[in-house]
Amino acid sequence: MKEKAVVIEAPGGPEQLKLVDLEVGAPGPDEIRIRHHACGLNYIDVYHRNGAYPLPLPARLGMEGAGVVEAVGEGVTHLRVGDRAAYASQPPGAYATARVMPAKCVLKLPEAIDFETGAAMMLKGLTVQYLLRRTLPQGGLQAGDFVLFHAAAGGVGLIACQWARALGLQLIGTAGSDEKCRLALENGAAHVINYRRDVDFAAKVREITGGRGVKVVYDSVGADTWEGSLNSLAPFGLLASFGGASGPVPPINIGTLSAKGSVYVTRPTLFSHIATREATQEMGDDLFSMVGSGKIRIRIDRRYPLADVAEAHRDLEARAITGSAVLLP
Ligand code: NDP
Repeated sequence: MKEKAVVIEAPGGPEQLKLVDLEVGAPGPDEIRIRHHACGLNYIDVYHRNGAYPLPLPARLGMEGAGVVEAVGEGVTHLRVGDRAAYASQPPGAYATARVMPAKCVLKLPEAIDFETGAAMMLKGLTVQYLLRRTLPQGGLQAGDFVLFHAAAGGVGLIACQWARALGLQLIGTAGSDEKCRLALENGAAHVINYRRDVDFAAKVREITGGRGVKVVYDSVGADTWEGSLNSLAPFGLLASFGGASGPVPPINIGTLSAKGSVYVTRPTLFSHIATREATQEMGDDLFSMVGSGKIRIRIDRRYPLADVAEAHRDLEARAITGSAVLLP
């Protein structure tokens, strides 16, 4: 049976996204076939589409989804036909009515979590899990510590605000409008900075932290915030550079790290953390318990029919979406 899927023939703008008919086929060993009820929209999909993260062409897009397991390949023991499931996974291909994919990144979705929420939270929530729980400065993070989190009203950002509050961290969130700053505060940020108005956000961070700076900066904005992020760190602090929504980070002169106070820099990716099924399950259980207990609520700001994927990409790049958005097949 033919399914609908989004493909690009060449990197470029949202107009490259084409909805086509595809044969999905049966799962091979260690694979499953899932019928999507919802697919997540993520900024990494923009990097895949525009060629910032090149894919072999023609390419399918989408890294996050939720639905029902339709077929199970040889060797898969943790999933059965009929299971409700959700995932964040390589390779891309979630923008589709159904797909065949590696089983190791797919988790059973708890009954209490609906499909749209599942599709809106897996890639973003597992990212926050590894950032706040596994990407830590010397001595770890304790309640009361200051961290700086950019794009705090975005999909990853709103989950980070809530998770940080649950851990007792003082998260300073940056965002691109007063409205977005208000949303970050409502979701658990202890302080907010509108970095379009207060361009020298590092000076604000110094004010808020009594001159000391923060233990960790979580920076997914990249080019525009890199310098200010380094200037926001306390001595021995950690800069986790995990994205480049404004463009890639410029080459680093390693001597800068000593000049800023023996600081550390890392460039992590979720896909190192979810390389094994065991790690994915452990991180997923942590995320499911945060969402299941109500400590984290997933905000779905927008829902688009799968056929309107180009409009969804335009809105994401125009910084028009707060929290998460989903595509509905
Ligand atoms: P968001 O919903 O956060 O959207 C991106 C946000 O970045 C915008 O809303 C905007 O917020 C901010 N931004 C700042 N400058 C720009 C710019 N020039 N153009 C566009 N946006 C800009 O997206 P996601 O939640 O999907 O992802 C957040 C970031 O995390 C992305 O950079 C993504 O690639 C990264 N990521 C990295 C992962 C990893 O493991 N390394 C995994 C998952 C996500 P504002 O207007 O408030 O500035």
